Amino acid sequence: MKQAIQQKRIYLSPPHMSGKELDYINEAFETNWIAPLGPNVDAFEKELAQKVGVRAAAAVSSGTAAIHLALILLGVEKGDTVFCSTLTFVATANPILYQGAEPVFIDSEPETWNMSPHALERALKEAADAGKLPKAVIVVNLYGQSAKMDELLALCNLYDVPMVEDAAESLGSTYKGKASGTFGYFGIYSFNGNKIITTSGGGMLVSDDEAAIEKARFLATQARDKALHYQHSSLGFNYRMSNILAGVGRAQLQVLEERVAQRRQIFKKYKQDLASNSGIRFIQEQKDTSTNRWLTVISIDEQLAGISLGTLLHALIQNNIEARPVWKPLHLQPLFKHVRFYPHDIGNCVSTDQFENGICLPSGSNLTEHDMDRITSCILSAASL
Ligand SMILES: *Cc1c(COP(=O)(O)O)cnc(C)c1O
Repeated sequence: MKQAIQQKRIYLSPPHMSGKELDYINEAFETNWIAPLGPNVDAFEKELAQKVGVRAAAAVSSGTAAIHLALILLGVEKGDTVFCSTLTFVATANPILYQGAEPVFIDSEPETWNMSPHALERALKEAADAGKLPKAVIVVNLYGQSAKMDELLALCNLYDVPMVEDAAESLGSTYKGKASGTFGYFGIYSFNGNKIITTSGGGMLVSDDEAAIEKARFLATQARDKALHYQHSSLGFNYRMSNILAGVGRAQLQVLEERVAQRRQIFKKYKQDLASNSGIRFIQEQKDTSTNRWLTVISIDEQLAGISLGTLLHALIQNNIEARPVWKPLHLQPLFKHVRFYPHDIGNCVSTDQFENGICLPSGSNLTEHDMDRITSCILSAASL
Protein backbone atom coordinates (compact mmCIF):
# COMPACT_ATOMS: atom_id res chain seq x y z
CA MET A 1 0.00 0.00 0.00
CA LYS A 2 1.29 3.40 -0.98
CA GLN A 3 1.23 6.09 1.62
CA ALA A 4 1.87 9.75 1.09
CA ILE A 5 4.80 10.91 3.18
CA GLN A 6 3.55 13.73 5.30
CA GLN A 7 6.04 16.56 5.21
CA LYS A 8 6.91 18.46 8.38
CA ARG A 9 4.17 20.90 9.38
CA ILE A 10 4.94 24.56 8.76
CA TYR A 11 3.19 26.81 11.27
CA LEU A 12 1.86 30.31 10.66
CA SER A 13 3.79 32.05 13.42
CA PRO A 14 5.31 29.72 16.03
CA PRO A 15 7.23 30.87 19.13
CA HIS A 16 10.95 31.51 18.59
CA MET A 17 13.02 31.45 21.77
CA SER A 18 16.33 33.27 22.07
CA GLY A 19 18.03 30.79 24.41
CA LYS A 20 18.27 33.20 27.34
CA GLU A 21 14.71 32.62 28.61
CA LEU A 22 15.70 29.75 30.91
CA ASP A 23 18.27 31.92 32.71
CA TYR A 24 15.50 34.29 33.81
CA ILE A 25 13.16 31.43 34.67
CA ASN A 26 15.85 29.69 36.72
CA GLU A 27 16.57 32.89 38.58
CA ALA A 28 12.86 33.20 39.41
CA PHE A 29 12.92 29.64 40.75
CA GLU A 30 16.14 30.09 42.73
CA THR A 31 14.78 33.20 44.43
CA ASN A 32 11.30 31.60 44.73
CA TRP A 33 9.61 34.53 42.99
CA ILE A 34 6.81 32.36 41.60
CA ALA A 35 4.05 34.94 41.77
CA PRO A 36 2.13 37.51 39.73
CA LEU A 37 4.67 40.07 40.86
CA GLY A 38 8.42 40.18 41.38
CA PRO A 39 11.65 41.56 39.98
CA ASN A 40 11.14 40.21 36.43
CA VAL A 41 7.73 41.88 36.20
CA ASP A 42 9.12 45.25 37.32
CA ALA A 43 12.13 44.95 35.01
CA PHE A 44 10.08 43.80 32.00
CA GLU A 45 7.81 46.83 32.41
CA LYS A 46 10.77 49.22 32.63
CA GLU A 47 12.63 47.63 29.74
CA LEU A 48 9.62 47.64 27.43
CA ALA A 49 8.68 51.23 28.35
CA GLN A 50 12.23 52.28 27.58
CA LYS A 51 12.33 50.36 24.29
CA VAL A 52 9.16 51.97 22.90
CA GLY A 53 9.67 55.36 24.58
CA VAL A 54 6.75 55.71 27.00
CA ARG A 55 6.74 56.80 30.64
CA ALA A 56 4.99 53.75 32.08
CA ALA A 57 3.90 50.18 31.39
CA ALA A 58 1.89 47.54 33.26
CA ALA A 59 2.53 43.85 32.52
CA VAL A 60 -0.70 41.87 32.44
CA SER A 61 -1.97 38.38 31.65
CA SER A 62 -2.99 39.11 28.03
CA GLY A 63 -3.41 41.79 25.39
CA THR A 64 -7.15 41.44 25.88
CA ALA A 65 -6.77 42.26 29.59
CA ALA A 66 -4.72 45.34 28.65
CA ILE A 67 -7.51 46.57 26.34
CA HIS A 68 -10.09 45.90 29.05
CA LEU A 69 -8.10 47.93 31.60
CA ALA A 70 -7.66 50.80 29.11
CA LEU A 71 -11.42 51.00 28.61
CA ILE A 72 -12.09 50.93 32.36
CA LEU A 73 -9.53 53.70 32.92
CA LEU A 74 -11.25 55.79 30.23
CA GLY A 75 -14.55 55.39 32.09
CA VAL A 76 -16.29 53.19 29.52
CA GLU A 77 -19.55 51.96 31.04
CA LYS A 78 -22.92 50.47 30.18
CA GLY A 79 -24.69 52.61 27.61
CA ASP A 80 -21.48 54.17 26.22
CA THR A 81 -20.28 53.64 22.67
CA VAL A 82 -16.72 52.78 21.58
CA PHE A 83 -15.56 53.03 17.96
CA CYS A 84 -13.36 50.16 16.79
CA SER A 85 -11.55 48.91 13.67
CA THR A 86 -13.65 46.21 12.01
CA LEU A 87 -10.83 44.25 10.35
CA THR A 88 -9.25 42.68 13.42
CA PHE A 89 -9.24 39.77 15.83
CA VAL A 90 -12.29 39.61 18.09
CA ALA A 91 -10.09 40.29 21.16
CA THR A 92 -9.94 43.97 20.15
CA ALA A 93 -13.68 44.42 20.63
CA ASN A 94 -14.64 41.89 23.31
CA PRO A 95 -13.66 44.21 26.19
CA ILE A 96 -16.22 46.74 24.91
CA LEU A 97 -18.86 44.10 25.60
CA TYR A 98 -17.27 43.22 28.98
CA GLN A 99 -18.07 46.80 29.99
CA GLY A 100 -21.64 46.57 28.73
CA ALA A 101 -20.86 49.26 26.15
CA GLU A 102 -21.78 49.26 22.49
CA PRO A 103 -19.18 48.92 19.73
CA VAL A 104 -19.48 50.80 16.45
CA PHE A 105 -17.28 49.35 13.72
CA ILE A 106 -15.22 51.43 11.32
CA ASP A 107 -14.10 50.09 7.94
CA SER A 108 -10.51 49.86 6.65
CA GLU A 109 -8.94 51.91 3.88
CA PRO A 110 -7.19 50.16 0.99
CA GLU A 111 -3.56 51.21 1.65
CA THR A 112 -2.74 50.11 5.20
CA TRP A 113 -5.81 47.84 5.65
CA ASN A 114 -6.39 49.77 8.89
CA MET A 115 -9.09 52.17 10.10
CA SER A 116 -10.32 54.49 7.36
CA PRO A 117 -9.99 58.16 8.40
CA HIS A 118 -12.74 58.82 5.88
CA ALA A 119 -15.19 56.53 7.64
CA LEU A 120 -14.08 57.68 11.11
CA GLU A 121 -14.76 61.29 10.13
CA ARG A 122 -18.34 60.49 9.11
CA ALA A 123 -18.90 58.39 12.24
CA LEU A 124 -17.57 61.08 14.59
CA LYS A 125 -19.53 63.85 12.88
CA GLU A 126 -22.78 61.90 13.11
CA ALA A 127 -22.08 61.04 16.76
CA ALA A 128 -21.34 64.70 17.57
CA ASP A 129 -24.54 65.79 15.81
CA ALA A 130 -26.50 63.25 17.81
CA GLY A 131 -24.86 64.51 21.01
CA LYS A 132 -23.31 61.12 21.81
CA LEU A 133 -19.61 60.93 21.13
CA PRO A 134 -17.84 57.61 21.79
CA LYS A 135 -15.82 57.23 25.00
CA ALA A 136 -12.85 55.88 23.00
CA VAL A 137 -11.67 54.92 19.53
CA ILE A 138 -9.73 51.63 19.32
CA VAL A 139 -7.33 51.65 16.36
CA VAL A 140 -5.56 48.45 15.29
CA ASN A 141 -2.22 48.24 13.43
CA LEU A 142 -2.90 45.13 11.41
CA TYR A 143 -0.20 42.57 10.66
CA GLY A 144 2.41 45.13 11.75
CA GLN A 145 1.54 48.01 9.43
CA SER A 146 0.76 51.26 11.30
CA ALA A 147 -2.59 52.87 10.64
CA LYS A 148 -2.77 56.43 9.24
CA MET A 149 -2.02 57.89 12.64
CA ASP A 150 -1.78 61.59 11.73
CA GLU A 151 -5.22 61.60 10.12
CA LEU A 152 -6.85 59.43 12.79
CA LEU A 153 -5.32 61.37 15.70
CA ALA A 154 -6.34 64.71 14.18
CA LEU A 155 -9.95 63.49 14.10
CA CYS A 156 -9.84 62.08 17.64
CA ASN A 157 -8.32 65.34 18.90
CA LEU A 158 -10.86 67.47 17.03
CA TYR A 159 -13.69 65.70 18.86
CA ASP A 160 -11.66 65.24 22.03
CA VAL A 161 -12.04 61.44 22.09
CA PRO A 162 -9.12 59.37 23.45
CA MET A 163 -7.50 56.73 21.24
CA VAL A 164 -6.57 53.25 22.41
CA GLU A 165 -3.93 51.83 20.09
CA ASP A 166 -4.12 48.05 19.67
CA ALA A 167 -0.50 47.30 18.79
CA ALA A 168 -0.80 43.58 19.60
CA GLU A 169 0.59 42.79 16.14
CA SER A 170 2.90 45.77 15.64
CA LEU A 171 5.51 45.74 18.42
CA GLY A 172 8.77 46.80 16.74
CA SER A 173 7.07 48.80 13.98
CA THR A 174 7.41 52.58 13.69
CA TYR A 175 5.42 55.49 12.28
CA LYS A 176 7.47 58.60 11.46
CA GLY A 177 10.25 57.22 13.65
CA LYS A 178 8.06 56.75 16.73
CA ALA A 179 7.22 53.31 18.08
CA SER A 180 3.90 51.76 17.18
CA GLY A 181 1.71 51.54 20.28
CA THR A 182 2.73 54.96 21.62
CA PHE A 183 0.30 57.15 19.67
CA GLY A 184 -2.94 56.67 21.56
CA TYR A 185 -3.65 57.76 25.15
CA PHE A 186 -3.16 54.07 25.89
CA GLY A 187 -1.35 51.46 23.82
CA ILE A 188 -1.47 47.70 24.23
CA TYR A 189 0.85 44.87 23.20
CA SER A 190 0.30 41.11 23.23
CA PHE A 191 2.83 38.36 23.97
CA ASN A 192 0.57 35.51 22.95
CA GLY A 193 2.36 32.47 21.49
CA ASN A 194 1.87 33.60 17.88
CA LYS A 195 3.07 37.21 18.24
CA ILE A 196 6.47 38.60 17.18
CA ILE A 197 7.81 38.03 20.70
CA THR A 198 6.03 35.90 23.25
CA THR A 199 5.76 35.01 26.92
CA SER A 200 3.44 32.10 25.94
CA GLY A 201 0.62 34.37 27.04
CA GLY A 202 0.73 37.94 28.26
CA GLY A 203 0.22 41.58 27.47
CA MET A 204 1.29 45.11 28.31
CA LEU A 205 -0.60 48.35 28.79
CA VAL A 206 1.45 51.49 28.10
CA SER A 207 0.86 55.22 28.50
CA ASP A 208 2.61 58.47 29.32
CA ASP A 209 0.06 58.87 32.10
CA GLU A 210 1.97 57.29 34.98
CA ALA A 211 -0.91 57.65 37.45
CA ALA A 212 -3.23 55.78 35.06
CA ILE A 213 -0.73 52.92 34.73
CA GLU A 214 -0.38 52.77 38.51
CA LYS A 215 -4.18 52.53 38.70
CA ALA A 216 -4.09 49.74 36.07
CA ARG A 217 -1.73 47.73 38.33
CA PHE A 218 -4.13 48.29 41.23
CA LEU A 219 -7.17 47.12 39.21
CA ALA A 220 -5.20 44.15 37.87
CA THR A 221 -4.47 42.88 41.42
CA GLN A 222 -8.09 42.71 42.63
CA ALA A 223 -8.22 46.44 43.49
CA ARG A 224 -6.92 45.93 46.98
CA ASP A 225 -6.99 49.12 49.03
CA LYS A 226 -4.00 50.18 51.14
CA ALA A 227 -4.90 48.53 54.44
CA LEU A 228 -3.54 45.73 56.58
CA HIS A 229 -6.74 43.71 56.19
CA TYR A 230 -8.38 42.88 52.85
CA GLN A 231 -10.30 46.02 51.92
CA HIS A 232 -11.91 46.67 48.55
CA SER A 233 -13.82 49.72 47.38
CA SER A 234 -13.79 49.08 43.64
CA LEU A 235 -14.17 46.13 41.30
CA GLY A 236 -10.85 44.51 40.47
CA PHE A 237 -9.45 41.73 38.30
CA ASN A 238 -6.76 39.08 38.48
CA TYR A 239 -4.86 40.32 35.43
CA ARG A 240 -1.20 40.57 36.46
CA MET A 241 1.60 38.79 34.59
CA SER A 242 3.52 36.13 36.50
CA ASN A 243 7.16 36.69 37.41
CA ILE A 244 8.17 33.54 35.48
CA LEU A 245 6.56 34.68 32.25
CA ALA A 246 7.94 38.19 32.64
CA GLY A 247 11.37 36.51 32.67
CA VAL A 248 10.61 34.96 29.29
CA GLY A 249 9.49 38.39 28.10
CA ARG A 250 12.76 40.05 29.17
CA ALA A 251 14.80 37.58 27.13
CA GLN A 252 12.47 37.93 24.16
CA LEU A 253 12.58 41.72 24.24
CA GLN A 254 16.36 41.59 23.79
CA VAL A 255 15.93 39.95 20.37
CA LEU A 256 13.00 42.06 19.14
CA GLU A 257 15.04 43.92 16.50
CA GLU A 258 16.46 40.62 15.25
CA ARG A 259 12.96 39.13 14.98
CA VAL A 260 11.73 42.17 13.05
CA ALA A 261 14.67 41.91 10.64
CA GLN A 262 13.98 38.19 10.13
CA ARG A 263 10.28 38.73 9.42
CA ARG A 264 11.05 41.56 7.01
CA GLN A 265 13.47 39.25 5.22
CA ILE A 266 10.74 36.62 4.92
CA PHE A 267 8.41 39.19 3.37
CA LYS A 268 11.12 40.18 0.90
CA LYS A 269 11.69 36.61 -0.18
CA TYR A 270 7.96 35.95 -0.65
CA LYS A 271 7.73 39.08 -2.75
CA GLN A 272 10.65 38.02 -4.95
CA ASP A 273 9.59 34.41 -5.30
CA LEU A 274 5.95 35.15 -6.06
CA ALA A 275 6.64 38.06 -8.41
CA SER A 276 6.07 35.90 -11.48
CA ASN A 277 2.35 35.74 -10.67
CA SER A 278 0.81 39.17 -11.31
CA GLY A 279 -2.41 38.21 -9.52
CA ILE A 280 -0.65 38.05 -6.15
CA ARG A 281 -0.37 41.40 -4.38
CA PHE A 282 1.24 42.49 -1.12
CA ILE A 283 0.43 45.18 1.45
CA GLN A 284 2.82 48.01 0.58
CA GLU A 285 4.88 49.47 3.39
CA GLN A 286 3.57 53.03 3.74
CA LYS A 287 5.78 56.09 3.44
CA ASP A 288 7.42 57.17 6.73
CA THR A 289 6.56 53.86 8.38
CA SER A 290 8.49 50.72 9.08
CA THR A 291 6.52 47.52 9.61
CA ASN A 292 7.63 44.50 11.61
CA ARG A 293 5.93 42.31 8.93
CA TRP A 294 4.47 40.17 11.69
CA LEU A 295 2.61 38.24 9.02
CA THR A 296 3.08 38.39 5.26
CA VAL A 297 -0.35 38.82 3.72
CA ILE A 298 -1.09 38.30 0.05
CA SER A 299 -4.17 39.44 -1.78
CA ILE A 300 -5.37 37.26 -4.64
CA ASP A 301 -6.86 38.63 -7.83
CA GLU A 302 -8.58 35.44 -8.91
CA GLN A 303 -8.70 36.30 -12.64
CA LEU A 304 -5.04 37.30 -12.90
CA ALA A 305 -3.70 34.75 -10.43
CA GLY A 306 -5.45 31.82 -12.07
CA ILE A 307 -6.55 30.46 -8.71
CA SER A 308 -9.22 31.21 -6.15
CA LEU A 309 -8.49 31.97 -2.53
CA GLY A 310 -10.30 28.82 -1.43
CA THR A 311 -8.33 26.56 -3.78
CA LEU A 312 -5.05 28.11 -2.73
CA LEU A 313 -5.81 27.73 0.98
CA HIS A 314 -6.76 24.14 0.33
CA ALA A 315 -3.52 23.43 -1.56
CA LEU A 316 -1.44 24.85 1.31
CA ILE A 317 -3.35 22.88 3.93
CA GLN A 318 -2.96 19.69 1.84
CA ASN A 319 0.80 20.25 1.94
CA ASN A 320 0.77 20.56 5.73
CA ILE A 321 1.37 24.30 5.56
CA GLU A 322 -0.63 26.44 7.98
CA ALA A 323 -2.17 29.41 6.18
CA ARG A 324 -5.19 31.45 7.22
CA PRO A 325 -7.65 33.86 5.66
CA VAL A 326 -7.24 37.40 7.02
CA TRP A 327 -9.42 38.32 10.02
CA LYS A 328 -13.10 38.17 9.24
CA PRO A 329 -14.41 41.72 9.77
CA LEU A 330 -16.21 42.08 13.08
CA HIS A 331 -19.26 43.74 11.54
CA LEU A 332 -19.83 40.43 9.69
CA GLN A 333 -19.63 38.31 12.85
CA PRO A 334 -22.81 36.80 14.30
CA LEU A 335 -21.73 38.07 17.74
CA PHE A 336 -22.03 41.65 16.50
CA LYS A 337 -24.91 41.33 14.08
CA HIS A 338 -26.84 44.36 15.39
CA VAL A 339 -23.83 46.64 15.62
CA ARG A 340 -23.56 49.84 13.55
CA PHE A 341 -20.88 50.00 10.87
CA TYR A 342 -19.35 52.81 8.81
CA PRO A 343 -17.94 51.73 5.42
CA HIS A 344 -14.97 53.50 3.83
CA ASP A 345 -17.34 55.15 1.36
CA ILE A 346 -21.08 54.85 1.16
CA GLY A 347 -21.64 51.55 -0.66
CA ASN A 348 -17.94 50.62 -0.67
CA CYS A 349 -16.88 48.20 2.05
CA VAL A 350 -13.11 47.80 1.81
CA SER A 351 -12.61 45.30 4.66
CA THR A 352 -15.03 42.79 3.12
CA ASP A 353 -12.94 42.84 -0.02
CA GLN A 354 -9.71 42.40 1.98
CA PHE A 355 -11.28 39.46 3.82
CA GLU A 356 -12.52 37.79 0.65
CA ASN A 357 -9.15 37.99 -1.12
CA GLY A 358 -6.49 37.91 1.59
CA ILE A 359 -4.36 35.05 2.93
CA CYS A 360 -1.78 35.12 5.72
CA LEU A 361 1.31 33.08 4.87
CA PRO A 362 3.62 31.38 7.37
CA SER A 363 5.91 34.13 8.65
CA GLY A 364 7.65 32.81 11.75
CA SER A 365 11.14 34.20 12.29
CA ASN A 366 12.45 30.62 12.55
CA LEU A 367 11.23 29.68 9.06
CA THR A 368 14.02 28.13 6.97
CA GLU A 369 14.85 28.77 3.29
CA HIS A 370 13.73 25.23 2.61
CA ASP A 371 10.36 25.85 4.31
CA MET A 372 9.88 28.99 2.26
CA ASP A 373 10.70 27.21 -0.99
CA ARG A 374 8.13 24.58 -0.13
CA ILE A 375 5.50 27.27 0.45
CA THR A 376 6.20 29.36 -2.64
CA SER A 377 6.42 26.37 -4.96
CA CYS A 378 3.14 25.05 -3.56
CA ILE A 379 1.50 28.43 -4.32
CA LEU A 380 3.00 28.79 -7.79
CA SER A 381 2.24 25.25 -8.87
CA ALA A 382 -1.34 25.42 -7.50
CA ALA A 383 -1.87 28.59 -9.55
CA SER A 384 -0.55 27.04 -12.76
CA LEU A 385 -2.76 23.94 -12.68
C1 LIG B 1 -3.46 38.88 19.54
C2 LIG B 1 -4.32 40.05 19.45
C3 LIG B 1 -5.01 40.58 20.54
C4 LIG B 1 -5.16 39.85 21.85
O1 LIG B 1 -4.05 39.56 22.54
P1 LIG B 1 -4.05 38.36 23.59
O2 LIG B 1 -2.74 38.53 24.28
O3 LIG B 1 -4.16 37.09 22.83
O4 LIG B 1 -5.20 38.58 24.52
C5 LIG B 1 -5.70 41.77 20.40
N1 LIG B 1 -5.73 42.41 19.23
C6 LIG B 1 -5.11 41.93 18.14
C7 LIG B 1 -5.18 42.72 16.89
C8 LIG B 1 -4.40 40.73 18.20
O5 LIG B 1 -3.81 40.25 17.09
